[in-house]
Order: sequence, then structure tokens, then C-alpha cells
Amino acid sequence: MDTAVVWFRDDLRVTDNPTLADAVAAADRVVPVYTFDPRRRGDGEYGPAKHAPHRTRFRREAVLALRGALRERGGDLLVREGRPADVVPSVASEVSADAVFAATKAAPEELAAESAVRRALGAGVDVERRWTHTLYHPEDLPTPPADMDDTFTPWRKAVEAATEVRAPVPAPESVPVPDGLAAGEVPTLPELGVEAPTDDDRAVLRFEGGEPAGMARVESYVWEGDHLREYRETRNGLLGADYSSKLSPWLAAGCLSPRWVHREVERYEAERVANEDTYWLVFELMWRDFFQFQFRKHGAAFFAPGGIRDADAGWRRDREAFRRWAAGETGVPFVDANIRELNRTGYMSNRGRQNVASFLADALRIDWRWGAAYFESRLVDYDVASNWGNWAYQAGVGNDSRDRFFDVCSQAEYYDDDAEYVKTWLPELEGLPPEYAHRPWRLSEGEQADYGVGLGVDYPEPMLDVEARYEELA
Ligand SMILES: Cc1cc2nc3c(=O)[nH]c(=O)nc-3n(C[C@H](O)[C@H](O)[C@H](O)COP(=O)(O)OP(=O)(O)OC[C@H]3O[C@@H](n4cnc5c(N)ncnc54)[C@H](O)[C@@H]3O)c2cc1C
Repeated sequence: MDTAVVWFRDDLRVTDNPTLADAVAAADRVVPVYTFDPRRRGDGEYGPAKHAPHRTRFRREAVLALRGALRERGGDLLVREGRPADVVPSVASEVSADAVFAATKAAPEELAAESAVRRALGAGVDVERRWTHTLYHPEDLPTPPADMDDTFTPWRKAVEAATEVRAPVPAPESVPVPDGLAAGEVPTLPELGVEAPTDDDRAVLRFEGGEPAGMARVESYVWEGDHLREYRETRNGLLGADYSSKLSPWLAAGCLSPRWVHREVERYEAERVANEDTYWLVFELMWRDFFQFQFRKHGAAFFAPGGIRDADAGWRRDREAFRRWAAGETGVPFVDANIRELNRTGYMSNRGRQNVASFLADALRIDWRWGAAYFESRLVDYDVASNWGNWAYQAGVGNDSRDRFFDVCSQAEYYDDDAEYVKTWLPELEGLPPEYAHRPWRLSEGEQADYGVGLGVDYPEPMLDVEARYEELA
């Protein structure tokens, strides 16, 4: 083939990127392109902006890094602004492309974008789609995604018994871009519609977009820090860079491939130690795969109020209650601390996510989709399947039928027993002993005066009697 366009999407890397590798193998000239889609700006269906500052900054950095990696290989990355259905066919026509190579993801908006590109390209240009974002390749699964189990454990066991993870594909040595193309500027953050986020010392990490930064995180967490040997023990942590891998933003934007991470785990197991903890990172990557393949099976059903179960849960649509949840002003410290961390940094631990989701869906009975959309607008690591799949799961309308509400007060006492986490994000509670920092509504008026924490003054009154609510749910 003479010329191929590579349309980069959520696969912003050169290592283990079959879309790029196959295009380079197939064509004499390769034209990589990325487009910032203006539809990702502004408000989404449920209100808040779709593309939050931390994620926008991360993506911008990832695009710059990808351009750098392609330039090192003699190539370039054309950067444009516009809908893919306008930009990709226009570049294809400019370079007389024979084919467009692109990664595919099984989610409605992503598939709609692909269809629109295909339609606009017309019959003369082939579209070569590659599945590049999971640990296991769908063709290697013992059961096709359409027939997969809706429960994680049997699915995982069947896959582990039947299938191997494919080896990562090496980065191409050179990318032969034709001369004379306008590379285009990478837009600034204000041009992308966001202010540069202010960094916060309390953030777990300054997540920097791009494949080199992702690989550096693996180097620091796995190799220098030697944290994999205790990963399972620490992953429910709340404070600091190293209680969990923090690889999610790089995996979500495709700066790292899960297969490459898997190979690093195998290397660590061979060179250092292999134990339950080292396996557990792979186990978590299987959760990630599970939701990706679930999306292929159920598609848009994941966005319905009743989820893939079509459950009639009678969700409340109380805007004021939702506003308090999203502002971190519920008066329940563990919820507020986690939400404030998300709002300030774009990240929240897995334990935090489970708790704030359960609080919204179980304790407040508010439409879980509002919460999922809020996460979509805020998370630096937002991924459609991981986010909506986990939210549906937590709200009891997704995978797994167990009733799984979290008593956030007990969770807080267990996972944050000295209340250090809560006090980090709610410094107004600094003077309280841990039992009151987690349940400030138990303070008498005299104690409020003694500790200098007035409810309704320094910190909100709780928006509901949460202890009574959990008794009701139990
Ligand atoms: C309500 C809710 C919403 C979530 N939204 C997202 C999201 O938008 N994007 C996202 O990447 N993860 C999401 N998660 C999953 C999980 O919380 C994050 O992947 C994890 O906290 C990221 O931190 P880490 O990279 O240090 O994770 P680690 O604990 O180190 O895990 C390693 C990797 O495994 C994957 N992983 C771990 N747990 C899960 C899980 N439950 N589901 C899917 N993948 C998982 C991630 O890619 C993660 O980077 C959500 C979880 C909940 C409960």
C-alpha cells in the first residue's frame, strides 16, 4: 500500500500499538493524526463539563509526547482541531490515503465516531480497525464477548485457564511520513476550553501525560520503589503515591498498554519475587478487561437508569442533594474528603470511589448516572467502560447481583482509623479525635465549643441521619 493514515485516539503510544505497527508494516508512507474534538468540551448530558482540566492537561501532554516519539522516528503527528469525521477524511484526501488505521473501543460514542469517519471517507479508503486496549485480545477469549459471563469470577477463571496474554508489539524503528504536511500546533489549555489546574501538595501524584511519563511511573513504582511485592496489602490505601500503582491515567489514554505492564510484572516476578501481590496487579487488569468486554456485550444498556439488569430502582432526582455531594458538603467527612480530593486533583482512590458511589446511590438513592457523569467530568483517568461499569456495579444495576452498600462511617473507621486522610482534605476537622472526625454529628454542643468545630459553621451538618439510614438498609 502506498499511504496509510493512522488516526490516534485513546492509544497515545508507540510501544505495543498494533494500529501504528501494522500501518508501518503495510504502507510506504504513514501519516499519523490526532484531532481534538470540540464536542468533548462544554457540558455533557447531565450538566457538568465533559472534559475536566486535569484530564485535558494530561491528554495535551500525551499528544505532545506522542509527537516527540514519532519525530524521533523520523515521523510526525499532525494535530488538528475538529470532529474526526471532518478531520480524518480531509487528511486522507490530502495525502491520497489508501487506508485509515485506527483503534476501536466498544462504547457508543466511540463507535459512532468511527462510523461517521467511515461514512465520510467513502468507499475508496479502507478502514483498518485494531483492538489494542485490553490485556487479552477478544479473539483469544474462550467465549466471545457477546456470550461472556456477566459475573467476574467465573469469567476470569475461564479466561485464565484457556488463554495467554499476547506479547507486546515493539515500537516501529521509523515512521516514514511524507514531506510537506503542516504538522499543526498543539492547542493551549485555554484554547481547549480549560484553565490550567492548580497543583495541590496533597495530590497523590502530578500525573503527567505521555508514554515516557507512564513508563517512568512503572520504573518508580515497580522497580525503584519495589512496591509490587506488597501491592495487594496496600491497594486499599488513601494517602500518598505508592499505595497503588496509579497507572490508570496512562492506561485510560493508552499511553501504556496493559500487555506491556503485564510483561513488566512478569519480568519483576522473574527477577525479584512472584507472590499473590504481584499477581494482584494482573488480577486488577482483568477487572479492567472485564468491563471493556462487558461494554462490547451490553453497549448502551450501561447508560440506562436500570443498567444492564433493567432494574427499576426509582432513583431520586434531587438537584440540591446532588450539588452537596458533588461539592463535598454532605456533612459526612469520608465522603466529603474523597470528593474534595477528586475536585482538587482529578484522582480518587478505589476505596474512595466505591464509598462515594455507594453513598450517592444507596444512602441518598440519587440517580447513579449523575454521579457517573460527574466522575466523567472530573477524573484524570476517566475510561468509559471502567467508570460506567463500576458505577452500575456499585449502584446494583450492573454486574454481580450481591447487595453491596457500603457503610461509609464504618469504612472510614477501618481504612482511615487515625482519620489522617479525612483531616488532610478537611483541615477544619484537624482538632478532632478520630471517632469524632468520622462522625462529627455525635459532638455535643459543649464538645463543639471545646474542640473549636461548630457544626453548620466550620463544617456542614450532615444532610441525612446516615447512621439511621444504614440501619434501615442493613
Ligand atoms: C465508581 C467507580 C468509578 C471508577 N472509574 C474509573 C475510571 O473512570 N477509570 C479507571 O481507570 N478506573 C476507574 N475505576 C476503577 C479504579 O478505582 C481505578 O482504576 C483505580 O482506583 C486507579 O488507581 P490505580 O491505577 O492506582 O489502581 P490499581 O489498584 O493500581 O490497579 C491497577 C489498574 O487496574 C485497573 N483497575 C483496578 N481496579 C479496577 C476496577 N475496579 N475496574 C476497572 N479497572 C480497574 C486500572 O486500570 C488500574 O490502573 C472506578 C472505580 C469505581 C468504584
